[in-house]
Amino acid sequence: MVEQKIWNDCKAELKKKLNPHNYDSWVKPINYVSYKNTTLTLAVPSTFFVEWIEEHYKDSIKQVFNTYSGVDIDLVLRVDENQRKGPEKAAGLAEKPPIKKPVAAQPRNKSGLNEKYIFKHFVVGKSNEFCYASSLASANKIGEVYNPLFLYGGVGLGKTHLLQAIGNHVLQSNPGAVVLYLTSEKFVNMLINALQHGTMANFRRKFRNLDVLLVDDIQFIGGKERTQEEFFHTFNTLYELKKQIVIASDKFPKEMRNLEERLRSRFAWGLIADIQPPELEIKIAILILLAQQNGFVLKEKVADYLANKINSNIRELEGALARVMAFASLTGRTIDTDLVEETLRGIYDDVACKMDIKTIQKTVCGFYGVKFSELISKRRSKSIAVPRHIAAYLCREFTDASLPEIGKSFGGRDHTTIMHAVSKIKNEVEVNTKVYNEIHEIKKIMKM
Ligand code: ADP
Ligand code: MG
Repeated sequence: MVEQKIWNDCKAELKKKLNPHNYDSWVKPINYVSYKNTTLTLAVPSTFFVEWIEEHYKDSIKQVFNTYSGVDIDLVLRVDENQRKGPEKAAGLAEKPPIKKPVAAQPRNKSGLNEKYIFKHFVVGKSNEFCYASSLASANKIGEVYNPLFLYGGVGLGKTHLLQAIGNHVLQSNPGAVVLYLTSEKFVNMLINALQHGTMANFRRKFRNLDVLLVDDIQFIGGKERTQEEFFHTFNTLYELKKQIVIASDKFPKEMRNLEERLRSRFAWGLIADIQPPELEIKIAILILLAQQNGFVLKEKVADYLANKINSNIRELEGALARVMAFASLTGRTIDTDLVEETLRGIYDDVACKMDIKTIQKTVCGFYGVKFSELISKRRSKSIAVPRHIAAYLCREFTDASLPEIGKSFGGRDHTTIMHAVSKIKNEVEVNTKVYNEIHEIKKIMKM
């Protein structure tokens, strides 16, 4: 069958694009069902797979298939009972529809909100209670308590979740409210579009009629002057009308480069609340909650084991759990520490040996052919910045050094600079095969 062959080619292409662990966990188990009238139907082992693929891989799959078939397809994922095995099926566990809405749930009409991000699904602890409480307070009394509310914290710590929860909460208690969630990139695109089509009046009206404006990842407006100007006016109008503005950023206003002073000062008018990396208890609670939402049982002991393995952010924790749940539903095994160990082996390995910063820096220099003096210099060219980020990431993962200590060893850089380098590489490892392989090689050289 021609279509079956196209699908096989797609799989081969996806294998090249994705890192091997992601490919094995998520794409390999997918089976071809049919291709009719531009609809491609694929079979996966569980409802949980459907959700995860919808959120993380659907676009890549569609894109690759479109390239091969030359047609813009619709992708339908279907659960194949035969692919599922073992006790879960027998116990009817995996039959249960997940409590969590499918991730691809339509955004609430035009608000840009996803109903799965609500306060009830947000686990609160020391590291995030400040952000949580101020978000809830703002949602309960829009425009009255903290305006603007500026949520600040590292990647994957829950900013988007809270921003969306505010919007959902407002709509829940007041369905007539006009709420808009968007990223600053989307704001830029909408603005460009309006400028190109001469529809600025519409653009302004849209924004200035809002009751609640939720802007995610505001750091991306740095350096974009026209956008900043327009945002400034939008901000002022809403502020004067006492409408709620909430902004999320992975940079503190003071650290945002190329941000106009007048915006910087406005961001600090209300409240700046920060989220810290999660403590162990939160990580455990989140894992148990997520497992439960997906119809799996996760014992505290197992959650503890998993939480201890993942030292970074909650997004990564979710990713690791997702892998474990996928493996469990494929093999029909219950989730215990052995299963976790097997699933995550080689991905989040325990620190096998203690490294020192200097050794890591030298190895990375040798691997990329850059001089040590360049590695710790202020130069920002890509050929140096990438090795520098990777070295910083490895130092963070494989030494006990604190962020400020690492910063000091990298030419006196600020700890937040190191933090960003580390989170950047962590994300890259997930999506960029080249970076993933290079790090793998470096680790091999260092016998990590
Ligand atoms: P950020 O926007 O800060 O990068 P996100 O809000 O996207 O992070 O969070 C990453 C993932 O972790 C999301 O799926 C989110 O639902 C989840 N998450 C983060 N914090 C919590 C929490 N305290 N409780 C439950 N889930 C959380
Ligand atoms: Mg976010």
